[in-house]
Amino acid sequence: MSKEIDKKLQQRNIKPTAMRELVYEVLDKNKKALSLYEIEQQFDNVERSTIFRTLKTFQDNYLIHSIDDGTGAVKYALCDEGCTCAPDDLHVHFLCNKCGQTHCLRDMPVPKMDLPKDFSFESANFVVKGTCSNCK
Ligand SMILES: [Zn+2]
Ligand SMILES: [Zn+2]
Repeated sequence: MSKEIDKKLQQRNIKPTAMRELVYEVLDKNKKALSLYEIEQQFDNVERSTIFRTLKTFQDNYLIHSIDDGTGAVKYALCDEGCTCAPDDLHVHFLCNKCGQTHCLRDMPVPKMDLPKDFSFESANFVVKGTCSNCK
């Protein structure tokens, strides 16, 4: 049991459980966004649906955000503290065409969105593609 992780979960009103701690740990130690499949690979004998439910709880409470980078698999990464995934909280993502990894560019906010009258915001994916520093 990790006090540090429990605190992060509780800050988001998520009740700490062993499973939730483990999934958090996996997301925290990987410095890139992970797909459900990649997270599943880190565990032995854990049902995919259990991991998926855990991710859903995390996402509903803004502990993580999901990224649709166009590869067909939704990826997940930890949110910054205080993030509510509102337009102002969103950042650009970078998909490397060589290694297929998606990185959060946390210091690059997405461009300001001035939606037409009566259009309401739900989500945005801003994905830049290229070659990452590891593949250079
Ligand atoms: Zn790369
Ligand atoms: Zn991100």
